[in-house]
Amino acid sequence: MKKNIVNFSLRVLALTLLLGCHPKLRQDSIGDKASSRVTLLISMDGFRNDYLDSFDTPNLDQIAQHGLQAEALIPVFPTKTFPNHYSIVTGLYPEDHGIAANKMYDRETDSWFQIGAGSKATREAYWFEGEPIWVTAKKQGVKTATLFWPGSDATPDSLKPDYHFYYDNNFNHADRIAQVLDWLKMPENLRPKLITLYFESPDLEGHRFGPFSPETEKAVERMDAMMGELMRKIEASDMKGQVNIVITSDHGMAQLSPDSVIFIDDYIDLQDVMLVQTSPKADIIPAPGKDSMVYFQLKDAHPHLSVFRKGDEPDRWHYRKHRRITPLIAVADLGWTIMLRREFALKQKSLHGGAHGYDNRNPEMWAVFMASGPDFKAGQKMAAFENIEIYNLLCRLLRISPATNSGDSSLFIPYLK
Ligand SMILES: [Zn+2]
Repeated sequence: MKKNIVNFSLRVLALTLLLGCHPKLRQDSIGDKASSRVTLLISMDGFRNDYLDSFDTPNLDQIAQHGLQAEALIPVFPTKTFPNHYSIVTGLYPEDHGIAANKMYDRETDSWFQIGAGSKATREAYWFEGEPIWVTAKKQGVKTATLFWPGSDATPDSLKPDYHFYYDNNFNHADRIAQVLDWLKMPENLRPKLITLYFESPDLEGHRFGPFSPETEKAVERMDAMMGELMRKIEASDMKGQVNIVITSDHGMAQLSPDSVIFIDDYIDLQDVMLVQTSPKADIIPAPGKDSMVYFQLKDAHPHLSVFRKGDEPDRWHYRKHRRITPLIAVADLGWTIMLRREFALKQKSLHGGAHGYDNRNPEMWAVFMASGPDFKAGQKMAAFENIEIYNLLCRLLRISPATNSGDSSLFIPYLK
């Protein structure tokens, strides 16, 4: 025991002497300390960028003031939940990671991908290409935990996050916070260095009641209060000053209207196509030989509908290559719904609520980004950026090397200590 103390004192003395005269070693020593830091990646589904200005969000405002805030986080196209969450953790566009929509048909295996309760496909590795951050971390010996993130349920067991929960929307929000705090309390050798935390709110309320409804406002304020509580509990814990928090959302939300409906079967015969999904992006697989006919039937059919053949989609979408992107896509203008005539009576009520999935150029589809913690300079603002940039940031915070991705690895350097 005594020998250990003497050894320890000698080591401290030696280290102090070294640090005093070798700036390079001092840097390494700070690096060692930094290696015990934890990165907490949070997503609030459907948290539209301008909710921050429209609603009362004192806790989020404070996080932004203490750290870094982007003017907006630009989602990938289509502005849907799974494509975007998976782009955030891979740094890849949907044409590269294969999650091209929330609902997909894969011709190679004649199989369907669909999200939601009871979905088997969300647990199948086949659908999720590219390398998510928890796999990059595991390959480099860094422990991770996911309290939900699209893709985490599908990672093969040998590469799964060290601590992982299968998606369960009944997992109470307060219990999710408690679980994160439990992970932070773990001894350092067991503690995850990356934790992901996902909330369904305010997406649920935005869909049901619309983006600027009192219900959505309350949901935003509840999320804000929860973020405040989480921050205060971290501050009161032994991990105070050791947690980098990155707060994101996947997309925004637009108001729908029963008067803004495009009935797609007014223009095409449903016998001529397989309609993978309808709105706000209709994914269309024409029957053999019907390709051109269907394209020209839809092309100028409606002033609020844009139709693209595969390969002709705008460059900025990076949405061409993958086999799960259908031969034709028809995209509604913001706030418009593509529907079948027979669905109208059944779905009319939902047209008083909100939707997303539109062109990511619409500010109504934009998401939020803010971050704070020991690695971030205080009081920084940055221009809007695409969410594929976040993967490199996470790698930088975890001190690991990123896999090949579409982001700019130097984007965050000016904002980090
Ligand atoms: Zn979403």
